[in-house]
Amino acid sequence: MSIQETYEKMKEKLGKILPDFEIKYKAELVYKINQLKEERNAVILGHNYMEPALFHTIPDFKGDSLELSRKAAETDKDIIVFCGVRFMAETAKILSPDKLVLLPAKKAGCSLAESITAEDVRKLKKKYPGIPVVTYVNTYADVKAESDYRCTSGNAARLVESLNSDTVIFLPDEYLAKNVAKETGKHILFPTKKPRAKKENTIEYQLIGWEGKCEVHEKFTVEDIKNVRKQFPDVVVLAHPECSPEVTEAVDFSGSTSAMIKYVEQTSAPRYLLLTECSMGDNIAAANPNKEMLRLCSVRCPHMNEITLEDTLKSLEKLQYVIEVPEKIRKRAYKAVERMLAIG
Ligand code: SF4
Repeated sequence: MSIQETYEKMKEKLGKILPDFEIKYKAELVYKINQLKEERNAVILGHNYMEPALFHTIPDFKGDSLELSRKAAETDKDIIVFCGVRFMAETAKILSPDKLVLLPAKKAGCSLAESITAEDVRKLKKKYPGIPVVTYVNTYADVKAESDYRCTSGNAARLVESLNSDTVIFLPDEYLAKNVAKETGKHILFPTKKPRAKKENTIEYQLIGWEGKCEVHEKFTVEDIKNVRKQFPDVVVLAHPECSPEVTEAVDFSGSTSAMIKYVEQTSAPRYLLLTECSMGDNIAAANPNKEMLRLCSVRCPHMNEITLEDTLKSLEKLQYVIEVPEKIRKRAYKAVERMLAIG
């Protein structure tokens, strides 16, 4: 496809949400990236939170982090470029140890992944021996290696229920833990808080959580929802389960990024508000031009924002930044994924 054809295709998809000069400039980058992708025998993965000009152009696969890593592992490509954040690229490496995995920006971190260390998990396991540890996918490889199971926001409640254990250690997202507790009827103990002393050493609580939070999703409040509903009574409000339980209670639908996309596609309401990372609302708006996405959101994940078309081009040119996971950690982290997949 020529630069002109790339521009025309982008114009058709993104013309309503991006100015023409931006589409023209980015079409050149997209063209170069696609050329280099072929030459290098690379596959590009685009997380749902990537900015629209990247999301709708260069990725071979788009979606949630685990789903993307699984798809990339099935390809015969030599290189995986992960347009997402570091823990996602590590997940791709865990599933594809023989491929070269690249992250276009060196920094791209995550407040949730950084909230807990492998040492924290080891201490919890010592304090609560024999209790299964479920770790959310938004963690680094060494934390996953300490876990028995890994989960996504889409299967967390199902996985916790399937364990058939009175008590579960669920890490590290406080709000997701509370939402899972609400769904499964389990109670939660947060060991980093100081709950009433006499209860701390009993197994009265069934789900042991942590106080990690997504710095994007924690910003949404019930007040935001009330204000929007006042202005637009017919609006359908959706929220990610990394939002507080008060927020997920007040919305029409709560689910993973993929579940929210599906919901919008399969529902006939004219107007939606997504309480999640801003770019995802833009990406859904571009894919569903007949549905209105309220643009009240100004919450952009600073880590996802690190990934640009310019950096992705540089990543392919210079083969940077290489993601490595020590084999000992990788094998243990892989087991946690395998156990999750066995549960479904
Ligand atoms: S949106 Fe939240 S969970 Fe996702 S990468 Fe950003 S900080 Fe982490």
